[in-house]
Amino acid sequence: MSDSNEYGKSIDVVIVGAGFAGIYMLHKLRQQGLEARVIEAGSGVGGTWYWNRYPGARCDIPSMQYSYQFSDELQQQWEWSEKYATQGEILSYAEYVVERFSLADGMTFNTRVTACHYLDAADQWRVELDNEEHLQARFVVMATGCLSKPNYPSIDGLRAATVPVYHTAQWPHEGVDFSNRRVAVIGTGSSAIQSSPIIAQQAQTLTIFQRTPNYSIPAYNEPLDPEYVRDLKSRYRQYREENWQRGFGADFDDNDESALAVSAQERRQTYEERWAKGGLGFLAAYNDLVFDMQANDTAREFFKEKIVQRVDDPVLAEKLVPTNPIGCKRLCVDSGYYEIYNQDHVHLVDLNEAPISRIDGNAVVAGDARYEVDAIVLATGFDAMTGAITNIDVRGQQGRSLQDKWASGPKAYLGLATAGFPNLFLVTGPGSPSVLSNMLPSIEQHVEWIADCIAYMNSHQYRAIVPTPEAEQTWVEHVNEIADLSVYPGCNSWYLGANVEGKSRVFMPYLGVPPYVEKCNEVVVNGYEGFKLSAS
Ligand code: NAP
Repeated sequence: MSDSNEYGKSIDVVIVGAGFAGIYMLHKLRQQGLEARVIEAGSGVGGTWYWNRYPGARCDIPSMQYSYQFSDELQQQWEWSEKYATQGEILSYAEYVVERFSLADGMTFNTRVTACHYLDAADQWRVELDNEEHLQARFVVMATGCLSKPNYPSIDGLRAATVPVYHTAQWPHEGVDFSNRRVAVIGTGSSAIQSSPIIAQQAQTLTIFQRTPNYSIPAYNEPLDPEYVRDLKSRYRQYREENWQRGFGADFDDNDESALAVSAQERRQTYEERWAKGGLGFLAAYNDLVFDMQANDTAREFFKEKIVQRVDDPVLAEKLVPTNPIGCKRLCVDSGYYEIYNQDHVHLVDLNEAPISRIDGNAVVAGDARYEVDAIVLATGFDAMTGAITNIDVRGQQGRSLQDKWASGPKAYLGLATAGFPNLFLVTGPGSPSVLSNMLPSIEQHVEWIADCIAYMNSHQYRAIVPTPEAEQTWVEHVNEIADLSVYPGCNSWYLGANVEGKSRVFMPYLGVPPYVEKCNEVVVNGYEGFKLSAS
């Protein structure tokens, strides 16, 4: 299907990124007979699971749900070993899929896309690579992931540190041995909460710098019971379909009852049962925990008790108790996090008492205190949802820059495309459920929507598709209206872009998988409603 024009040979689609979105996008387009190429900065596939190799990294969605379902054979054949898969096992799975569907020859590694410029006259994208080469394509698909651009804090002296500095999202492939080293971990999000217990096992001392405490629930990770796996696989397709009807697109054993409709005693029993199971399913104990502050408070109180029980020193325990609504930052899932504070060599520095002012050689300086260390771990998260896209110089119609367009917050219709940038698709982009859903099925839904759209355009001889500004604006307002019904906008989370200095605060993900999927399907049934299609 590729063609040539005055700008040279063109392929059908350039896909940016070889994570789960890029892998499936390539497979799907090849099945449709299209010529596509994946460009990937890393030396291998896996996206977030390629980069985030910090100790203890594993998924917080159960393995049996965090996998592709587009091939029944694949989902029947692949065997997960644990309830929550490790980074290494998920990476092996991604590599296995690439091999099984013979996709590697459609991928270029160790190469970064630096610019994508739309050529108005030709309805083509010119894609610049950091190796001085370029590609030309009718379509570009940003399969760049929601959590892929690391957030490096702007702390004075960080670049001049005289000790090694590691970011959890760019962890050395050969691993890091912290034996007999004094280690600083900056941040207390999921990455810190997962890595700190492992680092504590090795380090001489571990000092954790906390700006905002987070809620965390035990994972109770364990090997998967073969009987459970057999049973689930005997009804896998149906199980997946049922999960897709749930708010987060995942099986959290949702209870459709208000926390306020039951007695305190009954609520406590439910919370204890959920706690004993562990994992993100706690937040599905009642249907209003993330929508009603009073309901949320009941869960907050319960978590406070649990944190205090897990930490011996009551003064320290108090510092570890968050005051935010529970869930407005992503709930963390841990394996022995709070218990590390009961070890003499693990210390907490509460940055609310004095923020980090600088790194001075081998010391983290906060207030009057200097913490001398041998290594610094930045567990400071990501420029989420938009960072990897705006890192590329994307220019649409009349040379308009996407960075400029999104300067006051990302605007995208359905999180799939953005006005002024024809034939550019986003997988799990801002305005789609993405990070508030089980990512794998959400990726599959987007990939299939995009592949169907391209097939439709080809069969109807359309050259270009682009959302109308009106449809996009209405959608962005709707995303925010829904978010405002919840506790999510209530704290400084990366969902809002609040963790990155200078980034506009706009709630980015869409809350609610079923209505979102219905809307995407409706748009198609109504002839790509909200999009402008141009004929050849
Ligand atoms: P994060 O949740 O954004 O946490 C970053 C931490 O760094 C926060 O505690 C933040 O404090 C702190 N921080 C940032 N800049 C700082 C500064 N200048 N000084 C001091 N502290 C600073 O990032 P993350 O832990 O990498 O997790 C991001 C997301 O990735 C998670 O929410 C989750 O969706 C996903 N993830 C999942 C898993 C899993 O369990 N499967 C594991 C890792 C990541 P503030 O809160 O005050 O900003």
